[in-house]
Amino acid sequence: MLQATGIRKQFGNLQVLKGVDIRIEAGEIVSIVGSSGAGKSTLLHILGTLDKADSGTISLNNTAINGMTDRQLAAFRNQFIGFVFQFHHLLPEFTAVENVCIPGWIANRPKQEVEQRAIQLLEHLGLKERAGNKPQELSGGEQQRVAVARALINNPRIIFADEPTGNLDSRNARELHELFFRLRKEFNQTFLIVTHNEELAQMSDRVLHMKDGLITNGS
Ligand code: ATP
Ligand code: MG
Repeated sequence: MLQATGIRKQFGNLQVLKGVDIRIEAGEIVSIVGSSGAGKSTLLHILGTLDKADSGTISLNNTAINGMTDRQLAAFRNQFIGFVFQFHHLLPEFTAVENVCIPGWIANRPKQEVEQRAIQLLEHLGLKERAGNKPQELSGGEQQRVAVARALINNPRIIFADEPTGNLDSRNARELHELFFRLRKEFNQTFLIVTHNEELAQMSDRVLHMKDGLITNGS
């Protein structure tokens, strides 16, 4: 499903990724753990096409992304990849349902279809009553679930999550973890999650340990 080989990345003199190999199958929930500065976020950004590797190959769903133009990459990302970050990055001026719709609008899908799907997703995530509220009117856990709905709007092949529960208390964190596993069960949704949360790591199908720019326990 996702396969990357020999991913290297340098910032100035700092070699942050030193040849990472990783392979994720459809429907897997895989966690990446490792100390601060190990290169976890850098790897996730590169796999998610938000940043470019200096060398190495990446393919998602048998499509190689190397050699795509920036424009092709942006379209590919919007269609096939969802992101959930530690800080939800919802747009404050837009309601919950509008925030969820945005990637669908960018993909030029029919407006009505996108809105129906957004409402459906919010309902599914227990947020139907909050659809018309702005982000600041929602709790942290609710905001993060809106961010998950937004990540799902275009039915991505994979969701990359970078410390998605880093800003949540333990109850909301557990709820978000349970949501990920529910989405896997229902949609066979694939997740690659950077986390410091031991409980989530333990629940995952596999845990990859990252240290000094390398995955130290296989790929
Ligand atoms: P944390 O657990 O603290 O989030 P991380 O494993 O996600 O850490 P990265 O964010 O990938 O670590 O950063 C790895 C190293 O690369 C760090 O030393 C960081 O300072 C450096 N780095 C990351 N992004 C950049 C950048 N855009 N320019 C320069 N250096 C960077
Ligand atoms: Mg990080």
